[in-house]
Amino acid sequence: MAIIGRSEFEGTVLVAGLGASGKAVRGLLERYKVKCETFDEKADADFSNPAAVDWRNISAAVVSPGFSPDSKFVQVAEENHVPIMSEVEFAWKTRPRDEEGRSIPWVGVTGTNGKTTTVKMITKIFEECGLKVAEGGNTGFPLTLACREKGAQIVVAELSSAQLHFTRSLALEVAVWTNFADDHLDWHRSLEEYRLDKARIFENAKRAIVYNAEDPVTAAAAKSAKVNLGCVEVGFLPKRPAPAQVGVDEGWIFDNAFAYGRICSLEAMEHLKVKGRVPAHRIENALAACAAALAMGAKPEQAARGLSKFRPEGHRLEEAARVPKEGGEVEFIDDSKATNPASALAALSSLEGRGIEWIVGGEAKGCDMLPMLKEARGKVRRAILIGKDREEFAKALKEAQIPFDEVGEEDGAKALKEAVRLAFEAALPGDAVLLAPACASRDQFRDMAERGERFKEFAKALEGGPLA
Ligand code: ADP
Repeated sequence: MAIIGRSEFEGTVLVAGLGASGKAVRGLLERYKVKCETFDEKADADFSNPAAVDWRNISAAVVSPGFSPDSKFVQVAEENHVPIMSEVEFAWKTRPRDEEGRSIPWVGVTGTNGKTTTVKMITKIFEECGLKVAEGGNTGFPLTLACREKGAQIVVAELSSAQLHFTRSLALEVAVWTNFADDHLDWHRSLEEYRLDKARIFENAKRAIVYNAEDPVTAAAAKSAKVNLGCVEVGFLPKRPAPAQVGVDEGWIFDNAFAYGRICSLEAMEHLKVKGRVPAHRIENALAACAAALAMGAKPEQAARGLSKFRPEGHRLEEAARVPKEGGEVEFIDDSKATNPASALAALSSLEGRGIEWIVGGEAKGCDMLPMLKEARGKVRRAILIGKDREEFAKALKEAQIPFDEVGEEDGAKALKEAVRLAFEAALPGDAVLLAPACASRDQFRDMAERGERFKEFAKALEGGPLA
């Protein structure tokens, strides 16, 4: 029997997972004197075993994204008919409101890839509009805190599928879904469940939903989304835009949804370029960001200025080192953030035309690598395989007929060092050594940032001679 007619925050709230978001939830509950207990298998919490909780007292559980639907904690909470919510849902339900019940607007971004980049671009544009922006969510800063930042006028939220899974009532002013591809199949029960969780971003949207017009999954979800009256659909695509779309026309970002026309020239976006041109995936992110910002009322010149101030975050096609070799040089590129097949393919496409020694592997998260590898075949000279899921990955590389070396070393730093050494040894002058693993990093590193830092360190060390 479900609990009916009782506020979720009336009894004791159980906060599961004491990372940054769990601590923020606990802090807010304590501030408002709501009874709160904590659960965490590792950190110092009230409970580390769900069987020890007295569930009769619990009116809601707020879970961090680490808790999948199949986790023991979630299963026991469900057996006890306790409503489960994400920190996003909690932040939304408890957001500050004025006497008429209005809060500052929330703009949200999801997608298999491009979330952080799009969020940062949108933030830059809003800042050009003179707004104080509170950025948070999957970027690492809890939304519970972000929406309370002093003077904040708008929230820009990065939303992962794991966060959206336990989110029901969120009603974004503008919702953006960048793209959809294989990822996180170790968390979601199936690709279909992953899709359904992502699709929640559009539900209840108020002003606009922004979708990728060339991605049939996001486009179909936009068509069937249950949104508020007056909410418009805006598609984006890197081509001439049809009505209700933002696209590219004669080298310009071109708006055909809000009747502004030319927004900014791609040629002028030096900071987005890789080898002299803006990669397709960065154009797509810029289009999505423009569409979202224009929907919120930004003017074209504000969008253009905001985009010109955006700088890519680290570990995303970042130049790591240039090492002289045989009268030329070999460039090392850190795209450690490419943690799934689609983002690795985007990296390879960005470097099209160059010889690439490609460092891959790690935790495959249940993704099928073969379709991506078949597309990668013509783009790489050779792969160097590291990480836990080597066996499956090696099988797929063979089937895709990509030559590869395997580094069997279990220690992450040692494996990566050896991979860098092998890559440099085989590289020709003018080639690139690309770290775009298509996999998560936690099997061998603390996170993708540590993996990228290590790569940079080893690449830079080559500038002084062979690796010791
Ligand atoms: P997310 O926050 O969704 O992980 P990021 O903007 O941090 O997205 O980028 C993650 C990885 O995906 C990087 O390797 C980046 O180069 C690649 N990427 C970014 N945008 C896209 C896109 N639109 N399509 C495919 N890959 C992308």
